[in-house]
Amino acid sequence: MHVTHYDEMYSAFRAQMRRFAVERVAPHAARVDEEGRPPMEAYEASLQLGLPGLPFAESFGGQNGDVLTQLIAVEELARVCASSATTVSTCWIMMLLQRFGSLAQQQMVIPPVVRGEQRSAWGLTEPKGGSDLMGVRTSARRTSEGWLLNGTKRFITNGGWADWYLIFARTTPESFGIFLVSKNDHGVSFGAPERKMGLRGSPTADVILDECLIPHDRLVGEPEKGAEYIRAGLLASRLKYAAHGLGIAQGALDEAVSYTRQREQFGRPISDFQMVKAMVADMGMRVEAARAVLLHAATLVLNEDPAAKRYASMAKVLCTDAAMSVATDAVQLHGGYGYLKDYAVERMFRDAKVTQIWEGTNQIQRLMIAKEIYAA
Ligand SMILES: Cc1cc2nc3c(=O)[nH]c(=O)nc-3n(C[C@H](O)[C@H](O)[C@H](O)COP(=O)(O)OP(=O)(O)OC[C@H]3O[C@@H](n4cnc5c(N)ncnc54)[C@H](O)[C@@H]3O)c2cc1C
Repeated sequence: MHVTHYDEMYSAFRAQMRRFAVERVAPHAARVDEEGRPPMEAYEASLQLGLPGLPFAESFGGQNGDVLTQLIAVEELARVCASSATTVSTCWIMMLLQRFGSLAQQQMVIPPVVRGEQRSAWGLTEPKGGSDLMGVRTSARRTSEGWLLNGTKRFITNGGWADWYLIFARTTPESFGIFLVSKNDHGVSFGAPERKMGLRGSPTADVILDECLIPHDRLVGEPEKGAEYIRAGLLASRLKYAAHGLGIAQGALDEAVSYTRQREQFGRPISDFQMVKAMVADMGMRVEAARAVLLHAATLVLNEDPAAKRYASMAKVLCTDAAMSVATDAVQLHGGYGYLKDYAVERMFRDAKVTQIWEGTNQIQRLMIAKEIYAA
């Protein structure tokens, strides 16, 4: 598929998402953050638009939305509430099952996830295996009764809240498999919810697998191809995390523009002052530069261009660094009020930080970008 005119093709969907985010998501964002609980109002409202099912095939009740559609949805949600964007898009991890799972696995898991009756999560990170995949210790051993899983997964989004977990585990000393684990399986338990700096509406917890025995048919695809399956889905998923950062950056810019227009000092709106204008101009440039690279990367992914890998990492770094930098400047432009929980920029500032850390830290992304540049 060749994407030429992004704006024409997707602007109606963006307008619909924007309206939805402003009317149904934004009003709950501060309370969800304050109470540190899942954004149920936004999640349930998102079902009316079919957002949990956005990327899935129509045969499973999904909408078959392409990568660009998914990015727009994530960006517009994150623009007003980063936790809601995370909660809705974490459902999409089951695209891995749509791509590599058996029909029976797909039929068991995807339709309830699309309908919002069940939730999903992705378990890769471990106490000793964060940036370094080879540090993954969780083991999966084939026995006559099924697969026996042992290990701890750390920082799992939706941990304890999701019904289904895709667990990345070592099947041989050199290779990994992906396993479908239910929260009700014997030997599955959860750590206490993590007390986080930001993204407080998105639950995060350890997933502990202690002699967890699951049926043979819960293995996804082949037992030694887990890393290959992740790599295949990586680009689209990396772009999604980039869009999440971009949404936070855009939201912080929106807030800064609106505040500086109405706040008066020295007898005029602070937006009249040149130093304020220069900051807003820089913030706008960072947002638009990041968006341009994200759209370019998405086009390359859609066209299956080999350069997609490099641009997906660039988009992840540019969008999430923009989130942190624009949110920091937005707080600055609010003066003392930016330091108060009464203003959205305080939450956006805290939410922005994680975007530079997860889905491959921005240092790791830079290593990959350099590798691609040297290899070209
Ligand atoms: C809120 C939240 C939600 C998350 N959700 C999930 C989830 O759903 N599923 C999941 O599997 N994981 C999840 N993660 C985990 C996340 O992906 C990891 O935290 C991340 O990959 C970094 O791993 P680490 O925390 O072990 O840091 P480390 O790998 O220990 O890194 C520490 C620091 O060292 C740097 N570093 C490490 N190696 C290198 C190197 N070679 N060169 C240069 N610098 C290096 C890193 O960039 C970082 O700055 C989540 C994390 C958070 C905070």
